[in-house]
Amino acid sequence: DEPPYPAALERSYKITNKILGVGSFAVVKECIAHDTQKAYALKIILKKVIAGKEHMLDSELDILKQVRHPHVVSMHDLYETKDAVYIVTDLASGGELFTQLLDRGSYTEKDASNLIKQVLEGLSYLHSQDIVHRDIKPENLLFKSSKKDSNLLITDFGLSKILKTHDDVLMTACGTPGYVAPEVLLQIGHGKPVDLWSVGVITFTLLSGYTPFWGEDQAALFESIMAGRYEFDEEYWGAISESAKDFVDGLLTFKPEKRLTADEALDHPWISDNLTHNNCDE
Ligand code: ADP
Ligand code: MG
Repeated sequence: DEPPYPAALERSYKITNKILGVGSFAVVKECIAHDTQKAYALKIILKKVIAGKEHMLDSELDILKQVRHPHVVSMHDLYETKDAVYIVTDLASGGELFTQLLDRGSYTEKDASNLIKQVLEGLSYLHSQDIVHRDIKPENLLFKSSKKDSNLLITDFGLSKILKTHDDVLMTACGTPGYVAPEVLLQIGHGKPVDLWSVGVITFTLLSGYTPFWGEDQAALFESIMAGRYEFDEEYWGAISESAKDFVDGLLTFKPEKRLTADEALDHPWISDNLTHNNCDE
């Protein structure tokens, strides 16, 4: 059962019954501003769901309040009661990249490059603010609208932290199996490079339709990631350019200090040229 909405929230917004999504901590509903009739997303986080993890909530709010970028969901209002926190954000009505990926199976290189470029621009901005996302995955990448060329936005900073210094290394073990970087699982710290690893996993998945690391169960999956080995299976990768593979290799680099940064990834020809690649240049 949901606690009653704060009066101040209801004075400014009409909360519709439309549920936009459900995550690990939050239910996200649609709401409409009374004065402008503009639609927003209302992220409702029950405090009991995050009992003992309140520090994560605080970090999410601190971060959301600061963030302004065309490829990152921004926050407009914030309300809090004893039971819940209510965050009004930009509405991304085009749905999750995850859903589109399931529908499409895989993407052309040009389409994938265009999507990944937007994620990298958002990440470059976040990293320049010393914000590490730490949970980059297709469920947390949302299309602004359902138009074909809609912008892709990064959302869900629930697992983010503001770094105190550039080289500060975050030591909490979290993230999502499948997209999580080996240094997180090996508990040797995780700074900005963990986000680039996740982008590598997403790029691999968009191009091939399957994930680079796999296991019968979570333990086997973790072992697969920690071994850091993946293959470009000829059956699925035969028609994909060397440039794309080089880009994925640069991101799925085991040692975080050798992995591409967001800015380096943006400068990689597979992103900066954004051409339809084929095998002719091999
Ligand atoms: P959690 O921290 O619980 O994972 P998220 O912020 O990821 O919460 O939100 C959960 C889901 O709600 C997302 O995966 C997405 O489907 C939907 N959602 C979140 N924010 C928005 C938004 N601004 N516009 C539309 N849908 C959203
Ligand atoms: Mg989420």
